[in-house]
Amino acid sequence: MFVFQQISNAILVLLLILISFSATSEETIHLDRFNSGAIGKNVSYFQEIDGQRLTLEQAKLRFTQGNVKKSTGSSLTFGLGVPTVWLKTRIYRPAHLDLNYRLAIETPWLDYVDTYIVHNSKTLSAVSGGDGIPYEERPMQYRVFAFETGFEVGYSEIFIRVESKGPMVIPIRLDEVQQAIQRDISTAYEYGLIYGLMFALAAYNFILFIKIRQNEFGLYALYLTGFVFNSLSYTGQLHTIFTPNLGPLYQDWMDISLMITYSVFGLHFARTTLKTKMYAPKLNKFVVWVASSIPIGMLIGALFNNLQISMILAFALNSSFAFLFIIMGFKAVKNNIASANLFFFASVTAASCIGISTSAVAGILPYNDFTFKAIEVGMALEGILLAILLAERFRTAQRDKIIAEENARTDELTSLNNRRGFREAIAPLWQRLRHEKKDVTAVLLDIDKFKSLNDKYGHATGDLVLTHIAKVLDRTARRGDILARWGGEEFILLLPDTNQKEGILLAEKLRVAVSSSAIYYGGETLYITASIGVAGTHDSHINGKNVKAVRLEDLIQLADDALYGAKHGGRDQVFANQLALVNQ
Ligand code: GH3
Ligand code: MG
Ligand code: MG
Repeated sequence: MFVFQQISNAILVLLLILISFSATSEETIHLDRFNSGAIGKNVSYFQEIDGQRLTLEQAKLRFTQGNVKKSTGSSLTFGLGVPTVWLKTRIYRPAHLDLNYRLAIETPWLDYVDTYIVHNSKTLSAVSGGDGIPYEERPMQYRVFAFETGFEVGYSEIFIRVESKGPMVIPIRLDEVQQAIQRDISTAYEYGLIYGLMFALAAYNFILFIKIRQNEFGLYALYLTGFVFNSLSYTGQLHTIFTPNLGPLYQDWMDISLMITYSVFGLHFARTTLKTKMYAPKLNKFVVWVASSIPIGMLIGALFNNLQISMILAFALNSSFAFLFIIMGFKAVKNNIASANLFFFASVTAASCIGISTSAVAGILPYNDFTFKAIEVGMALEGILLAILLAERFRTAQRDKIIAEENARTDELTSLNNRRGFREAIAPLWQRLRHEKKDVTAVLLDIDKFKSLNDKYGHATGDLVLTHIAKVLDRTARRGDILARWGGEEFILLLPDTNQKEGILLAEKLRVAVSSSAIYYGGETLYITASIGVAGTHDSHINGKNVKAVRLEDLIQLADDALYGAKHGGRDQVFANQLALVNQ
């Protein structure tokens, strides 16, 4: 909750700073005092009655009649599918100042924009653009509607008519041309940096997906790539590279399609990486439903060529996307999902930045470069945080795998190798020993009368004794000897570079260590003995028989035979196999 408070405080402070930037409005722009910036506050406007197109003269009349509104924000926002807007502003140019200016409306999806510059009641220029007009015919081959012009000395009036089916957002700017170029350059760097970062992350995660075959990396790569294309689209940049002239609604359809594409990938990424299905099946189902029914709805809208419905659905999905991210993150935190805190933090960061940009476009916050680009910055931050999350996940998965492998090799009770661990540890060693014709000895040890100890003192005491014996053996064996629990109350040792004679000596040491080691239990002192069978390579011929032990299994079998002899010989003794295992 503390984090929440911090975040909301930060947002509040940001809001206050942004609001204090918005100065009081005045209609006329004095070019000696104004050089570059948004001119939304210097604008008065009215809307046409639907279907009744006004001429410039009629619009002028309407402005003089005073039945118009004054804009208060730096960007004008009217909503979806609203009637045509007429805007008017006044420019004052002093005689000593003769510069060219770029007039731009920074939303690329506006269908038709007509601009008239009027000086002394004469229309000096009329410039038309918008995405309803073929790219090549627009006043500037630029990502948004823009043109460059100078002004006559004295007062000029600018009338702008904007007609659009998409969101009627009119962020209008006037920049002295040199300033506009500077701004283009820094904008290019800013977008380059953010997109470059996101593309690199996407490519890297795509490679991880190919190599590791885990869907979350692939979905994450698609989510990032999707966002970059979405951003390229609604900032008009895609349109400058890819310029089919598909009419006035083309930009709108492209925007909303890319908007839902990245949202859908994002939702599936979140579901997969947070394993939402496991602990929040209802939420998971809801997310799947949102991520499939809205695109289907939009597709139906597209079939009927109904931009309005498709657009509303796209915005609904896009806004619920941010909320669902936070809810999924929150649920994951509550369910102690690994790295869920990071995900939650990332999603709140991104959602706050998305909120700032959306509010700026909607006119709630001042529209400026910081507020408009907050979404890209937020997404890039989220991108970095989520990449850290995936790296953390990867590390955890690796660690879990190592632990699981370790567990599969280890006997739970005694922490010694189990049979599998023993075989794995032996395999390379055995190859080397046989290759170099080194001596090797196997020792099998079985606790005497363990069943009766279990019967007398209980299974738990039996376990305690097994652990105790394991420790004694571990302590007594030399470095390089390989010790394992062979099963039940049997232990095995493989002694590298040790012939049978040396092996017998070590086995004797083990036997003494076991029998002399007291086990204190419930006020009683228990003594345990063990029988040991030894089989190893040696040079002398015993009984004149030669056996070539070439396989580990053979050696163990021979040690087992010897152990049988030790039991029959009366227990608590070491017995060596009488067969000669000639080292050749
Ligand atoms: P011998 O001297 O002939 O080896 O007699 P023994 O009783 O030791 O041999 P036997 O093979 O008849 O019995 C082995 C017993 O070991 C039977 C089994 O219940 C017990 N045992 C095997 N694994 C465990 C274990 O993990 N914990 C405990 N407490 N007992 C075990
Ligand atoms: Mg036994
Ligand atoms: Mg036994």
